Amino acid sequence: NKYVYNFNEGNMSMRALLGGKGANLAEMTNLGIRVPYGFTITTEACTRFYKEDKKLWDDLNKEVTEHIKDLEKANEKTFGSTEDPLLVSVRSGAPISMPGMMDTILNLGLNDDAVIGLAKKTDNERFAYDSYRRFIQMFADVAMELDKNNFEKLLTAKKEAKGVKLDTELDANDLKELVEEYKAKYKELMGEDFPQEPREQLDLAISAVFRSWGNERAILYRKLNDIDDAMGTAVNVQSMVFGNMGDSSGTGVAFSRNPATGENVLFGEYLINAQGEDVVAGVRTPQEIATLEKAMPEVYKEFFETSEKLEAHYKDMQDMEFTIQDGKLFLLQTRNGKRTAQAAVKVAVDLVEEGLIDEKEAVLRVNPKDLDGLLHPTFTKEAEDKNEPIAKGLAASPGAAVGKIAFSAKEAAKRAADGEAVILVREETSPEDLEGMVSAKGILTARGGMTSHAAVVARGMGKCCVAGAGELHVDEYEHTVRIGDLVLTGEDTISIDGSTGAIYKGSLETQPPQLHGAFGTFMGWVDKFRDMKVRTNADTPRDVAQALNFGAEGIGLCRTEHMFFKEDRIFQVRKMILASDLETREAALEKILPMQEDDFYQIYSLMKERPVTVRLLDPPLHEFLPKGENEIKDLALELNIQPARVKERIAELQEVNPMLGFRGLRLAIIYPEIAKMQARAIIQAAIHCHEDGVKVVPEIMIPLSSDVVELSKVKETVKEEIEKVFEEKGKKIDYLLGTMIEIPRAAITADEIAEVTDFFSFGTNDLTQMTFGLSRDDAGKFLPAYIEKDIFEKDPFQVLDQKGVGFLVETAVEKGRKANDKLHIGICGEHGGEPSTVKYLYGVGLDYVSCSPYRVPIAKLAAAQAAI
Ligand code: PEP
Ligand code: MG
Repeated sequence: NKYVYNFNEGNMSMRALLGGKGANLAEMTNLGIRVPYGFTITTEACTRFYKEDKKLWDDLNKEVTEHIKDLEKANEKTFGSTEDPLLVSVRSGAPISMPGMMDTILNLGLNDDAVIGLAKKTDNERFAYDSYRRFIQMFADVAMELDKNNFEKLLTAKKEAKGVKLDTELDANDLKELVEEYKAKYKELMGEDFPQEPREQLDLAISAVFRSWGNERAILYRKLNDIDDAMGTAVNVQSMVFGNMGDSSGTGVAFSRNPATGENVLFGEYLINAQGEDVVAGVRTPQEIATLEKAMPEVYKEFFETSEKLEAHYKDMQDMEFTIQDGKLFLLQTRNGKRTAQAAVKVAVDLVEEGLIDEKEAVLRVNPKDLDGLLHPTFTKEAEDKNEPIAKGLAASPGAAVGKIAFSAKEAAKRAADGEAVILVREETSPEDLEGMVSAKGILTARGGMTSHAAVVARGMGKCCVAGAGELHVDEYEHTVRIGDLVLTGEDTISIDGSTGAIYKGSLETQPPQLHGAFGTFMGWVDKFRDMKVRTNADTPRDVAQALNFGAEGIGLCRTEHMFFKEDRIFQVRKMILASDLETREAALEKILPMQEDDFYQIYSLMKERPVTVRLLDPPLHEFLPKGENEIKDLALELNIQPARVKERIAELQEVNPMLGFRGLRLAIIYPEIAKMQARAIIQAAIHCHEDGVKVVPEIMIPLSSDVVELSKVKETVKEEIEKVFEEKGKKIDYLLGTMIEIPRAAITADEIAEVTDFFSFGTNDLTQMTFGLSRDDAGKFLPAYIEKDIFEKDPFQVLDQKGVGFLVETAVEKGRKANDKLHIGICGEHGGEPSTVKYLYGVGLDYVSCSPYRVPIAKLAAAQAAI
């Protein structure tokens, strides 16, 4: 088995084996782009490393030796030489890029001999010893997991002793001394000398990269991003080029297009006289790439052309790392760039216009989940006009976020878990902050550029981020943020705008997203390739309007109980529930009728001729009654009855297990007058619309059926009432009568049920609850542990369980369609907007999915991708 490949032996199709970085380095090498030569140790070696008790084995060592020889030959340098030593970088590279998760070691190969060789070769002693001390620190930190502060302290002490401020003010002798101090510190902490043998250094570094695949940060990142733990990482060993050899050297990171907006301009930053990590770490604030054109016109031109060449080759936006050594450009890495949803859509649309990809490919390029980032709110124009920003940073990841200040990841996670909206405010973020970044509404940093950790990770999460706001002084120990004279604490609310970089004190008003331009073009293509319909779950005119704005093609679920809670009608609802006889109940229902009718009329009017599914009352009646002593008193007073009577009724309606109790169509069996009122409201409102010229065909949905006889009984009640309405109005309209399939028995007896219904809608919230026997309302207490302990891969209330619940869905579809070939089938449970579930349900053959308004574009894209 071959475990090591020279760069010229691989190509970009070997990603699984060589990792993304390795495959792309190989591809660039073969494209004739200037890449420092090297080799890649495969992901298979990583997997075997774990099988070998985290040790390197003989055959691998032999292979590595062979490739070092190749590398020495190619570079005409040798490891450890006092004349011209070979130095390498060692980097991880998984098949899927994991920014900031894994560690890099630079300048490997330096030792007491090689440093002399490097000084000779470069004629720069200061540079050589600076490289050596950086290497010791990085090696100790990354490979040996020693706290780098041990070394930072020595550096600071040295600067103080010399009375200088900047690292660059230390001379060769200072650095020579520092190297000795570093080595002594290393020995003190490790109990052994700093390894002088380059080969030993390399083996330790390779092991460290493999081990870092198993570190906590990497595991958390994989969990958050659904990356397989078994994949492993490759190791890239590459000869060093130096960006810190003086003012004609430098290093940078750049995107071939703007990763925040998608605009087609070179975008990035660089530092003169610096090594790679300085840019990403956000320690020094870098310069914009555009200024390189002036500083080094030749290099800029070559970089620009390389960027175009790579884009044309990969047919996608590239994220490139480069180093300039003494005026000569080297590419260290390229990969398809991470981008915001806005940029993803814009780039996909532009690439079609530029003829690089076709429309289908463009639709496949955008991850449905990421669209979420596009659909986020922004601050209203008025709020922006009224408020002066207190500071400004870089617009690192778009969106608007409002929250109180949290100073550490831990604090952010804790306060967010307690239900507080927080903004994580840090000097800069590091991979340890990941958890806090996940739970914060937004992220604000004082240092670091557009490619700093905070910026990259926030964009990946679709989370609002303002980075590098230099006016901020963040003191995480004192828990204060100072901006000039202004001092903010953890009790202060701030608003940050990731699209402009503005930071405001207080809470600014937000507005729903505005969708124009590239998004419209893109969704047009999505609609072109999609054949499954996407409806929405909405029960207020406001939600309906929002959903229409997002392209909903109908309403798949209108939960009428939400209308019952409205302030002006809850009184009548309670009266209806408390009624001890039919007459009083009907009198109360008569008051509710015109209100419901008006609701439906408004919704139909907005929806025009699109289908609208209205569900009859579903929850148990006690949910509508007041709970507190005072509320009960008030209600009794208004109804002119004894509080005891109210309490009695509440007690009567109390259930041990309400989810399996007196709810759904069971209410309609016992109180048919409620179903009648609702059926009447639905049909009268529809007739009203027909008179306006809007020919709605209402779909009446009966919830929670489990048996055909039970369902037929309710159907009869509803039909009789509708016939009555037709007679009274002297007008008939079309309507559909269907049921929810949300009890396993309904799915199993779907053939019988299909014979008496026009449509099915899967209520997968209840169907999941009842298939697993997992209470929807209580599972939150223990389900997270199931995910943590890997018992469940996903929360079954978020991602449909295809094996179990899916089996019932498939059974019901098959039996239902066999019994009634006109049967129309959809889903209205939460799963209807979850991309992987949508794709699955497309395969099962559903006619539509229905989801919350904000998820309509996501479901549409998932459905289109399933169809392509
Ligand atoms: C369901 O059970 O999936 C459903 C849509 O109904 P509800 O969430 O209202 O119970
Ligand atoms: Mg339900």
